[in-house]
Amino acid sequence: MQRGESKIIHFFMNRKTYDAKIVNVNNSVEKRKKDAYQIRYTRNGDLSQALQQYFFKTMNYIRAIRESRDLKDRSYIKMPEGLKEYLAIYTTEYEDTFLLEPIAQDDFQVMKKAIQGMKERSVENEIEYEIEDKNSGIEKRLQIVKIRKLNRKIGENLKLLYGYRYQICGRVIGEKYGSRIAEAHHIDYFVNSLNNDANNQMIVCPNHHSVIHDANPVFDWKSMIYKFNNGCEEKIRINKHLMRKNG
Ligand SMILES: [Zn+2]
Ligand SMILES: [Zn+2]
Repeated sequence: MQRGESKIIHFFMNRKTYDAKIVNVNNSVEKRKKDAYQIRYTRNGDLSQALQQYFFKTMNYIRAIRESRDLKDRSYIKMPEGLKEYLAIYTTEYEDTFLLEPIAQDDFQVMKKAIQGMKERSVENEIEYEIEDKNSGIEKRLQIVKIRKLNRKIGENLKLLYGYRYQICGRVIGEKYGSRIAEAHHIDYFVNSLNNDANNQMIVCPNHHSVIHDANPVFDWKSMIYKFNNGCEEKIRINKHLMRKNG
């Protein structure tokens, strides 16, 4: 798509299709400015209504904040960690058709119950290798699969971003053997945080991953250093996506 151009695209969500417009909002003549795309749809159209139904908790939260604050205050409203909801967009085999998957608070509640009492490493393995629990009901299973799929997609994208190079040791093991081996680790354990944002995932080699889960070091978000109980420290060598947090 050329700069300033727009076209109609189709979304497929829960067995229904919706039309929307995608616009390349980069109007700059400068070559180095990155293209940015915006998805537009009518305020009270079908898509808008369907999304409002899925994300009613987010809508209510935003509405309450807007009502309680000064009318002139138009600053960005950030959702608290425990209230986050997601909309995953996946490409399909058709060029202008995308799959939309809303992941609402209820989905997280189901996920939380499903992984209760599980070890973090097993949960991460399940996300990575798609092991299915055949014992749970279909509806529940679909909700779990949704979150896993999103989680895995974020991890896969990070692996591509790093070219399968590990953030702690800076190495790539598989390359020599024509193999791609890398694992996505959740810095705040997913079993506790249910946080699958890219900013909570790190690409590591299987060895460092095992060591982290065995020794449980503390991650210092300010300095980007893993601090082990025995005094050993591992600084993140390569970082292209993690954002420092203060305090
Ligand atoms: Zn490593
Ligand atoms: Zn891990």
